[in-house]
Order: sequence, then structure tokens, then C-alpha cells
Amino acid sequence: MKYDQVLVRFGDLMLKGKNRNIFIDRTVNLIRQNIKDLNVKMRKTHDRVYITINDVCLDLITNRLKRVSGLGSFSFVKVAENDLDKIVEAAVFMLNNTLEEDSTFKIETKRANKRFPLTSLETSQEVAKKVLPQLTKNFKVDVRNPKQTLHIEIRDEETYLFMDSIKGLGGFPVGVGGKGISLLSGGIDSPVATFLAMKQGVLAEGIHFDSSPLTPVESAQKVIDLSKKLALYTPNHEFVIHMVPFHNIHMEILKKVPDPYLITVMRRIMFRIAEELAKKLGILALITGESIGQVASQTIESFHTIENVTNIPILRPVLTYDKQEIVNIAHELDLYNISIRPFEDCCAIYLPKNPTTKPTIRRAEEYEANLDIDKLVSDAVEHTYKWVIKADSDLDITNYGFTTLEAWEAIKDDSISSK
Ligand code: ATP
Ligand code: MG
Repeated sequence: MKYDQVLVRFGDLMLKGKNRNIFIDRTVNLIRQNIKDLNVKMRKTHDRVYITINDVCLDLITNRLKRVSGLGSFSFVKVAENDLDKIVEAAVFMLNNTLEEDSTFKIETKRANKRFPLTSLETSQEVAKKVLPQLTKNFKVDVRNPKQTLHIEIRDEETYLFMDSIKGLGGFPVGVGGKGISLLSGGIDSPVATFLAMKQGVLAEGIHFDSSPLTPVESAQKVIDLSKKLALYTPNHEFVIHMVPFHNIHMEILKKVPDPYLITVMRRIMFRIAEELAKKLGILALITGESIGQVASQTIESFHTIENVTNIPILRPVLTYDKQEIVNIAHELDLYNISIRPFEDCCAIYLPKNPTTKPTIRRAEEYEANLDIDKLVSDAVEHTYKWVIKADSDLDITNYGFTTLEAWEAIKDDSISSK
């Protein structure tokens, strides 16, 4: 079966009034970025994009288009001249090649080109009448409850025939919603949350709190590998990750904060650092992978006590998702097998035996009085370093040292994976 083109639709973006053209242009740029290495050509009209397929494999094109946020749906189409006989010829070809055994079908026509001599309904009826004797198997028409539908769109320039629409990511082109800093742990939830924010148009940069050598350097490598996957959804296929050397802070907390408040205080410090960094970068929101009730520390009381130290919107895209829903997305995006590698980050190592589920601000402040919070935060922000991870990078920091910082020092000039 040889299709001629891919027909790409923008879905909800078409409803966006004044911003519509900007959103569409951004989506088109994302499409261009994702197919630029393929032997295809792209043509934009006011409401859709057509991509010639040439000899490119359909799975490859599908895979690329599924990375584009803002893209509503797409179909593989056969193109015919605006002429009934030519349309019938293409319809016979489509039906014979795509209908499944024992299938029933109907034909649905949309005639945008009013100069075409038949109405939409007449076209469907005429084409059906003429294709039936030419079908290779005993397919039946069922206009009420068909298993498959052949769509015929008669436009000014030519006619497009297609069967299914494949769903795109939907949402908005990444970047139109501004920027957010995403607290990326290496677990299952935060990369999914990061993706969901990007899908809705927020360009995310990651921040990771790295406690190596208290935590293994492989734990930071997970974050780097997740960043490579997330980079596929950014406009230039790069994902920025800010590494915060967290070892000293982690040690201080272990020494000075009682077990039930370890996680609470650790999170409050993470949020402070992330907010400081956001301010420095002119970024207006944080993103986390928190999900209500998922673990003891993710209660409303806990959110309340933790976010009390910040004054910045906190987006929690998976707040109300259950674990299975998050895991399903992690699988779809190929993140899951990275997230479950058995290396613990700072929140998973030395887990408190009895974390409080109802931490209070007063108690947290009491324990923090034993720490020089301002200095810990400003030191951490000052020593944070930035890695720019390209989607096709083969960066493996575990080859370069026992700590992430050592690896950074060793390879920071490597322009392929960092800058
Ligand atoms: P995840 O699967 O994302 O690790 P989780 O359900 O394991 O989430 P926690 O480990 O309690 O939950 O962390 C809650 C959130 O805090 C994470 O989703 C992430 O946004 C942030 N976070 C935790 N640890 C780190 C870390 N080391 N670096 C950056 N962010 C972190
Ligand atoms: Mg975690």
C-alpha cells in the first residue's frame, strides 16, 4: 500500500482566537524540527500541514509526529484529482488495501470545493456504487454502524482520501506557556510530570539534587538518561538540567533533623533552592512529580508545610493521577526502564522509619533553626552547574568519577553533551 501524503491537523489550536497563528506557527516549527532529517517535504495551508511521504517508512513518520505537542491528529492519505473517476480509482485502492477481513464500511465526503459538481452525499453514494463491484473481497456497506470509514475530502486544489486518524499529543506547542523548573528525581513520577507540563506548552528545565557520593553516581546518570528522552519534546531537542550539589546539605539534615521530619525539611530546602534558581533565571513556576496520597509525605498537610517556604506557583501535573496511570505514560515515553534502575536518590536513601504524615510549619521551623538555612541555600545555588543534554547524546557520567561533580569537572568542555 502506498500512501502519498500525511495530513496533519491542529485540533484544539484552531479554537485559540487571536493566538491561533502564533500557536500554529510554533507547532509547524516543531514538526519541521522532527522531520528535517527525513526525505520528505512539508507544505502548510492555513489550517493544516501536508507532508509528502516519498519512500519513508510510515512507522518512522508516526514516531516523529507523536513527539509534537500542539499536534491534534494526522492521517495517511491518498491524493486524487478533483474528478469522480480518479476519486473512485483511489477509493478502490484504499479500500482493497486497508479493509480488514469481514469488515463493513461507509464513505463520508466533505466537499469544501463548491465547484465540484456533486454534493457531499451524492459523491459518497456515487463512489460507493462504483467501488463495490471492484472490491477484491466481499466487503459490505453499513452506513449506520460501519467498522471502518473512508473519508473523502474535496478541497480546492485536490481530493484527499483516508481511513483512520492517528491521535497526536494534543496540548500546546512547547514554549508558548512560558518556562518552568522541574524537580527531577530520577523516579517514575517527576519525568512524567515534566513531560505533561511540556505537552501543555510549558518549556521545562530540570533541577536535580545530587547527594553523591552519599548516593551512587548512577542515580544522577538516570536523570541524564531521562533528560535525553525529555529532550525529544523540546524545540531544539536539548534538555537543560541544573545539578545541585546536595551532599553537604543532606549530611547536615541527617545530623540535625529528627527522623520524622527528615523528608519535610529536605523538601523545604529543595523548594527554596529551586525558587532561588528560578528567580535567577527569570522562570516563574516550579514543577514536581508529587501525587496526592501516593506516599506518606504527599499529604495536603505536607504540601502545605513544604510550599510555605516558597512564593512561586508550583505545578503538579500528576497530582491526581494514580500510580498505574503514571506508569502507563512512563512506558509510552520509554522512561519507565530508566526510572526503575535500582539506584537511589537523596529522598530514597536512608528513608526515615516513621515519617510524619502531618508535618506542621511550626515544627519544621523549629528543626530548621539548627541549620544555617540561608547559607546552605545560597551556597547550593552558587555551586549549581548546568548540563545541556541533547536527545542523541551518549553521555555516561559513570565513566568519569565517583561523584557527579567530578564527572562534570572532567567533561564540562565536551561540547557534544554539555555546555
Ligand atoms: P518521583 O517518582 O518523581 O521520585 P516520588 O513519588 O518518588 O516521585 P518523592 O521521592 O517523595 O516522590 O518526591 C516527590 C517529588 O519531589 C518528586 O516527584 C520530585 O519532583 C521532587 N524530588 C524528590 N527528590 C528529588 C531530587 N533528588 N532531585 C530533584 N527533585 C526531587
Ligand atoms: Mg522519588
